[in-house]
Amino acid sequence: MIRIGIDLGGSKIEGIALDGSRDVARLRVATPRDDYEATIEAIVSVIRELEQRAGATGTVGVGIPGTISPSTGLVKNANSVWLIGRPLLDDLSARLDRPVRIANDANCFAVSEAADGAAAGAAVVFGVILGTGTGAGIVVRGEVLTGAHAIAGEWGHNPLPWADENDRPEPECYCGRAGCIETYLSGPGLAADHQRRAGVTATVPEIVARAGSGDSAAAQTLNRYVSRAARGLAAIINVLDPDVIVLGGGLSNIPVLYEQIPRAWNRWVFAAGRGEAVRTQLVQARHGDSSGVRGAAWLWRDA
Ligand SMILES: [Zn+2]
Repeated sequence: MIRIGIDLGGSKIEGIALDGSRDVARLRVATPRDDYEATIEAIVSVIRELEQRAGATGTVGVGIPGTISPSTGLVKNANSVWLIGRPLLDDLSARLDRPVRIANDANCFAVSEAADGAAAGAAVVFGVILGTGTGAGIVVRGEVLTGAHAIAGEWGHNPLPWADENDRPEPECYCGRAGCIETYLSGPGLAADHQRRAGVTATVPEIVARAGSGDSAAAQTLNRYVSRAARGLAAIINVLDPDVIVLGGGLSNIPVLYEQIPRAWNRWVFAAGRGEAVRTQLVQARHGDSSGVRGAAWLWRDA
């Protein structure tokens, strides 16, 4: 049986046909920006082409940079603004003449890594994308947790926990508040912190490379990042208690995170304070940039 996954991004539409874990066809086209009808057409034609190449009809799952509101059925919270307020789920189901599942792209990332990625076999998984933003999703026993507002896992606009003078002044966030987790843990957040504290403009890979070659200002920036990530994730452990936390996105390529964050989160996890070791594992995504599109296909894992 074939599962089709579509990752609808702001600049490209990526499609995959999975036969079990095996990728049997892939396709990528440019997203018709600012044109809803053309976006629907493009998605449908990608699916038809994948099915032709795979020689079979499949289930269809779609990851979007936003979510479908459970109360209205319309797209909300999308940075691809031409999708907002549109009945994408109904329109795609009607055009394809079959049920379609749509989820937030960070939720698809978590589903992918829980299905056959770095968190395969784990009961409760928290998947985080640390990139231009800080998206996250929750998977429980293979199933994505959507929630009453379809925002489950979205912790990027919660305040940074246990903030101290090193974290102030709180950076302004585009959401209208200040001191959101995303303003510290996204790639732009890390670069802005280095600029504020060290007075140096540098990209994240440059900061990481300099920290590794003995630049103390860059090393301190990474230490602040580790401390903040540890506190942000400790708050998740205290509520969700996941077996595995998977990191994806550009910043997940920083190797020291996997040893330093778990060392730092001990101080903040409730269980650790009672003499019990923290068992939650922090791991890097296995499928990298393909997790979004693979997870969209895995939205039909139960099929
Ligand atoms: Zn915010």
